[in-house]
Amino acid sequence: MRTATLKSKAVTAWDERNLASLKPQDFEPLPDLTDEESAEMDREFLASATEAQQEQADDLRARGYTVTPGPVEWISPIEQWVSRLLCWEIPGSSDDASEPMGARKVALTLDLPGGSPKDAIKVSIETKVVQEVDRDGRTTWHESLDTVSLTVYADGQSYLGFVECTCVCEMGHTLIALQRDPSPEIGQRVLRVLLDIDGDAPDWPAPLYAALKPLNKCQACGRKLDDPVSRVLQLGPTCANNLGLAHSQRVVEAVMRYCRARGLL
Ligand SMILES: [Zn+2]
Repeated sequence: MRTATLKSKAVTAWDERNLASLKPQDFEPLPDLTDEESAEMDREFLASATEAQQEQADDLRARGYTVTPGPVEWISPIEQWVSRLLCWEIPGSSDDASEPMGARKVALTLDLPGGSPKDAIKVSIETKVVQEVDRDGRTTWHESLDTVSLTVYADGQSYLGFVECTCVCEMGHTLIALQRDPSPEIGQRVLRVLLDIDGDAPDWPAPLYAALKPLNKCQACGRKLDDPVSRVLQLGPTCANNLGLAHSQRVVEAVMRYCRARGLL
């Protein structure tokens, strides 16, 4: 199956059985919008998401973080690939499941080009699970993104931080926050690497494999890799399978094609 379960993490529970039942006719139908009205709404969404990003950046800077703002978009490109890595159908969260599930933690080390060959980004993705009992007494489990934390190695230093890829209103924003005052250029390099992984690519997971740092050991378990496919992909077959990532000679060829097309080989 997929990535390791975080057993220590509590499952949040919601019980909606006591809520008064709402019927579909209790909701007002949405009015049909003209193209102009719809464009105006998009502008408002963009303005409020940009403002939310600015406010969060100011708040984080006041708390000592160095902030690199990313794009304001309907779906954060980072949320997109993280969600695809977690095997979710849509970005941001899983479908409702009728079987209990645990929260997950996935850690990968990405290359950080543009500086010393040792520079790298360790990305640690944690999910949370909510158990919900609906008005009919039906229990479902739902997994969503909790934190995406970073350890950036650059300049011979390490910087802790995190990625925010949030949808506060209709549109969301992306930003990188790092502690210990790295130069702004480091934040830009980290942002570029994380935005460049195309979670929508038809040849997925090639873009993710291409971004991994060559560690000459399995990225997930640290074991020595002795077959040629694993050595290129930086993951052993079992760990790739646990992550839900394809692992074969065909994937190796897709990664090679991907790197050649981007001038990385
Ligand atoms: Zn492994």
